[in-house]
Amino acid sequence: MLTHRTTCIAFGLALAALVALNFVFPVAWYWFVLLIVAFLSIEFYGAYFVHSNFHIRAICKADTSEKVIALTFDDGPMQERTDAILNLLDKFNVKATFFCIGNRIKGNEEVLKNIHKRGHLIGNHSYSHSNLFDLKNTSQMIDDLKKGNNEIKRVIGLEPLFFRPPYGVTTPSLARASKKLKLEVIGWNVRSLDTTIKNRQELVERVTRRIQPGSILLFHDTVNGLEFALEDILTYLNQNGYKVVELDKLIQKQAYA
Ligand SMILES: [Zn+2]
Repeated sequence: MLTHRTTCIAFGLALAALVALNFVFPVAWYWFVLLIVAFLSIEFYGAYFVHSNFHIRAICKADTSEKVIALTFDDGPMQERTDAILNLLDKFNVKATFFCIGNRIKGNEEVLKNIHKRGHLIGNHSYSHSNLFDLKNTSQMIDDLKKGNNEIKRVIGLEPLFFRPPYGVTTPSLARASKKLKLEVIGWNVRSLDTTIKNRQELVERVTRRIQPGSILLFHDTVNGLEFALEDILTYLNQNGYKVVELDKLIQKQAYA
């Protein structure tokens, strides 16, 4: 399988082969450039696509033929917007998982308590959700993730084991940090693109086209008016025999320590 480790080994071997070959007859410089470009392209793909399992074995779907799926919401808590989603989920009597940003919890404690009280799961989405998160070294990442978990624990009294990387980007440091903290890395296999698609119908079609047994759906509870598209999606699920289940049940893992 293509992983960071196997890619580095293959790159090292290919580079050594080119250098050795160069002793026998001159190897054109562009072969070296080509090799480096190929290496960087694979590394980029592995870092930016969480389902590639390149750096981390992330759970992006459940292996099942049953029509069950789980809903996840990133980037909250965010007062009215999270509340609007919670009200809709109640209306359909379904539970979801909210991957919360640690630094958004202060001042939004009631929203977080409300998520928990209404039976939804809460996961860690880092404390900072910084644009530079991926540049942090392992110990800085450990600090960030611990801080995120502490904020959640301060409010609901439980320490999350589910972690979703900010922007879905994974790096060797993140792999080490999440392993050290025994966090389960959760990806998705249906990305709604709800932060960019503004048309309700387009969003609904994009999501419903991609749903399959065991899917993990990614939304953001920071998107204004998402509840309208979500209502259509939940109606589609009902009409097509899909059941929304809690993420911990779908993937058969423990949500809290
Ligand atoms: Zn995020």
